Amino acid sequence: MIRIVDIHSHFIPEKWENLQQKFGGDDWPWLDHNQNPSTLVHQPQQPGKAMLMKGDKAFRPVYEACWNPEVRLEEMDRDGVDKQIISATPILFAYERPVEQALYCAQIFNDAALDICARGDNRLFSMAQVPLQDIDASCMEASRAKNCGHVGVQIGNHVGDKNMDDEGILTFLQHCANEQIPVFVHPWDMMAANRTKDYMMGWTVGMPAETQLSIVSMILGGGFDRVSNKLKICFAHGGGAFAFLLGRLENAWHHRDIARGKSQHPPSHYLNRFFLDTAVFDHDALNLLVSKMGPDRLMFGTDYPFPLGEQQMGQLIKSADDLCAETQQKLLADNAEQFFTL
Ligand SMILES: [Zn+2]
Repeated sequence: MIRIVDIHSHFIPEKWENLQQKFGGDDWPWLDHNQNPSTLVHQPQQPGKAMLMKGDKAFRPVYEACWNPEVRLEEMDRDGVDKQIISATPILFAYERPVEQALYCAQIFNDAALDICARGDNRLFSMAQVPLQDIDASCMEASRAKNCGHVGVQIGNHVGDKNMDDEGILTFLQHCANEQIPVFVHPWDMMAANRTKDYMMGWTVGMPAETQLSIVSMILGGGFDRVSNKLKICFAHGGGAFAFLLGRLENAWHHRDIARGKSQHPPSHYLNRFFLDTAVFDHDALNLLVSKMGPDRLMFGTDYPFPLGEQQMGQLIKSADDLCAETQQKLLADNAEQFFTL
């Protein structure tokens, strides 16, 4: 019997207090249950549908699987998914705001995630968010969250211009290593926003590029040399283009000294220091991940319940004819159960 654990899925609470009223400013996220997501016209509530708003701008149409564990469990049953780990939608991170505000958001959304999991029939688990613009506050919230029952933390892959090799972010990662808190790195606040604003290129181009940048900066910035190898860290979306471009990175490392940065070893040396999820939507891409990372470093993720996620959850791996049953099972559940100690 195949077991399936989805490590990359998102939630949005059904409601939360009016942050615009509490803190001022006009671009806070909120959920509009009275807007028709397809027409953007205000009308009486459409059961199960809502528009995620950023201030007065429509950000993304969503449906109740985001906040209703019953609907989520039904859809997991439909696709044979046993367990899911839910994490916040990056629009809720608030890294660009004063730390008190971001910490407040982290706490209300982290508590909301636990509330959804408590109604999840022991099949839902959550990762917490932290106010990553402040390292002390992040360490405190990560530890609080762990004590409250979160199985890990999700962080955005950068804070403004600070990449994963930033001194503060490395300090936070070391804290997570010490406390045995698994870390999931999710792209957000995508680069080249002006040139990717059409056709959802922020998601299809910007997000993978952000993730590749994060892994490369962590390696070449000496992050893996400095942070304890007890750190459990996983990057989203198959690591973006990282696996495909590893040869290019390796070539640069060997032939230009300035391309080595602070890393003590060639990039390929660090492949056993991190995990990637399998949200790549293509068998050739999945095969490449398995050949570069090995079968023990990949974990099934869907990006459920968003439209750019895997629609029939688990199908990519279950129908991967090039992977033996043992490898499929590692990717679908075994690796995740170890990584998150489920
Ligand atoms: Zn995601």
